[in-house]
Amino acid sequence: MPFDLNQHWNSSEINPFIIGGPCSAESYEQLYSVCEQLSELSVPLIRAGVWKPRTRPGGFEGMGKEALGWIQRVKNELNVNFVVEVASTQHVEEALKYGIGALWIGARSSANPFTMQEIAESLRGVDVPVFVKNPINPDLSLWVGAIERIHGAGIDKVAAIHRGFSTYAKSEYRNPPTWQIPIELKRLFPELPLICDPSHISGDRSKVFDIAQAALLLNYDGLMIEVHPDPEKALSDAAQQITPMMLKEMMQKWRMTRSKSSNIWYNSKQEAIRTQIDELDKRIVEAIGERMHLVRTLGEYKKENQVSIFQVERWDEIFKTRSEWGEDLELNALFLQKLYQAIHDESIRLQSEIMNNKDQVEGMTE
Ligand code: PEP
Ligand code: MN
Repeated sequence: MPFDLNQHWNSSEINPFIIGGPCSAESYEQLYSVCEQLSELSVPLIRAGVWKPRTRPGGFEGMGKEALGWIQRVKNELNVNFVVEVASTQHVEEALKYGIGALWIGARSSANPFTMQEIAESLRGVDVPVFVKNPINPDLSLWVGAIERIHGAGIDKVAAIHRGFSTYAKSEYRNPPTWQIPIELKRLFPELPLICDPSHISGDRSKVFDIAQAALLLNYDGLMIEVHPDPEKALSDAAQQITPMMLKEMMQKWRMTRSKSSNIWYNSKQEAIRTQIDELDKRIVEAIGERMHLVRTLGEYKKENQVSIFQVERWDEIFKTRSEWGEDLELNALFLQKLYQAIHDESIRLQSEIMNNKDQVEGMTE
């Protein structure tokens, strides 16, 4: 029986839809214990890794078919639903043979269009929900492409899982969330359910709650959280897994939001504030338009006088003064620096265009 995503989705308008369970299925006892506790918390879908993608050989690679046997047993004994990761056509076949009702695709697979196409083909004619994690690299198109391939194979129950993105830079997270990517995904595909995986983003159980809370405030549809009966002894991802008790506490603690309110007082306030914001945004866009007009004019003069487009002292001055101007207004300095980086980049692009186009036009008239 495929897992009925829509039914569980709709039944939890306020409570987030939760996928909980161990990083890996390690033994029958481990699986039974965690599932029993998750079932008491009414977690609708249980995750369990069967084949583990390890970065280097020699790590724990999952229990494979043996784990599928335990899953089947626990599923019948406790009447719970499972989702497992598939990374090849062979995994898809095995998982379906063992009656797994939902599948997820990991970050390493969604980064590879060949793998995605093969998995998608092997799912043709199959009715199971498929959850597609973001690719390891921060590339929205690659994520969209992976989702499209699954959808293109006739799977209509597709959801996205945001698990953060790999980075070489030092970060407080194992996989920094880079929220603007999933937010843009939601903007492009508002109907696509979006789930956050705070476990793989944080890599640290003490940070799971905050990331989950941030996702809920951003109106995510659900969470995928790694839960293990004895996290410290876990064979994979020991640092980030939480106990069922910790999950229970989180479920009682997190602040829920929803996309709409039925409170008319709130709605009229929202309307009024949004009108003011729209007016301000219009003025901001107009001001940027005026700024860019001046930038173009200056570009013409620079061209005539053979002055370089980029001057480091000028950029340094802009970078420093703009964030200082924001201090009294309680504007975050880093935010202003990023904003001006973008404005300055665009100014350089416009002036470069002027330099290059002029050359072509002059060349043509000569
Ligand atoms: C996992 O969910 O355990 C996993 C390997 O995730 P990801 O593909 O996000 O690294
Ligand atoms: Mn894991």
